[in-house]
Amino acid sequence: MKIKIIKMQKLHYLTLFLLIIAFNFNSFSQKRPKPKNVILMIGDGMGLAQICAGMVYREGDLNLSRFKKIGLIKTNSSDDYVTDSAAGATAFSIGKKTFNGAIGVDSLKKPQATILELAEKNNLSTGMVVTCAITHATPGSFIAHVDSRKKKYEIAKDFTKTDIDVVIGGGMAHFTKRPDKINLIDTLIKNNYTVYDSTYEIDKIKSNKFYKFTNNYHLPKMSEGRGNYSENASMKAIETLCKNKKGFFLMIEGSQIDWGSHDTSLSYTVNEMLDFDNAIGKVLDWAEKDGNTLVIITADHETGGLSLTGGSLKDKKLTGKFSTTEHTGIMVPVFAYGPGSDNFTGIYENTDIFHKITKLLDIK
Ligand code: MG
Ligand code: ZN
Repeated sequence: MKIKIIKMQKLHYLTLFLLIIAFNFNSFSQKRPKPKNVILMIGDGMGLAQICAGMVYREGDLNLSRFKKIGLIKTNSSDDYVTDSAAGATAFSIGKKTFNGAIGVDSLKKPQATILELAEKNNLSTGMVVTCAITHATPGSFIAHVDSRKKKYEIAKDFTKTDIDVVIGGGMAHFTKRPDKINLIDTLIKNNYTVYDSTYEIDKIKSNKFYKFTNNYHLPKMSEGRGNYSENASMKAIETLCKNKKGFFLMIEGSQIDWGSHDTSLSYTVNEMLDFDNAIGKVLDWAEKDGNTLVIITADHETGGLSLTGGSLKDKKLTGKFSTTEHTGIMVPVFAYGPGSDNFTGIYENTDIFHKITKLLDIK
């Protein structure tokens, strides 16, 4: 009789032990979900005022309003309170504060592996889609390692040293009309890429490893007829990259929100903001269906010190004042959706975007 009681107690302890393990395992897996894919979307110069301005002119809400996990980042560079787009993007791409103008190098000008290169190294597929030349500061910072954003031809050359799978944007002239007379398109083809020029329609692309050059330099503004390029190109990149069962990393940039605000043009800013938000909507629709994709929307800095001083939501009217033609040092928002999105709330440094993503993807 005595023995039996002891046995019963042991059984209870065992059940309790197993329950504790099961509960812990369950809460662990719920607290720390891991994404398979990460899509980082950068609205260059997109501060809160640029977003609010977009809201006035949109029928209904912005797609950004669909995000529930929201944070703020500090954008200051290593040598200036106000960052430029090179140091801003390099903070995201290498996880270190660096000097204004730096492309994929740290504050001592030392090249550092970018998040895109780390993704490649870990057998993820990688890509980028931009509305400027791919040799411009933001996209360049994910691929190249040079001490000045002005070195466009060197940035172009660094593209040929990586294994990125999908590249869509402008900047073909930096590959073909070079001072060193090297035709980098030939190099890309030798490296097994299919290279499409501006005449080839994005929708028709079938290759899994390609460059699609839309322009010799930058793409036209929305007001000059860019059409639905941003969403088409973004979805083509996703459709191609998602074939990799191991996952992918994709950077998409709304490059010209910044240029609208540098021009102190509210209409240019709003048109580009709405175009970026359209791409966000398509990407988010896809991510919601996929379930394994973390989508992060943020900005490298605010541009123009834009203030919204008056307007009417009903009449879709807005008065905006720009306090500068340059960037400002104000914090910018981060919007996150998908597995791991909880990590992106709060106030933190722009460099933490790199650290949070690489930790979630488990890439080093
Ligand atoms: Mg940019
Ligand atoms: Zn700028």
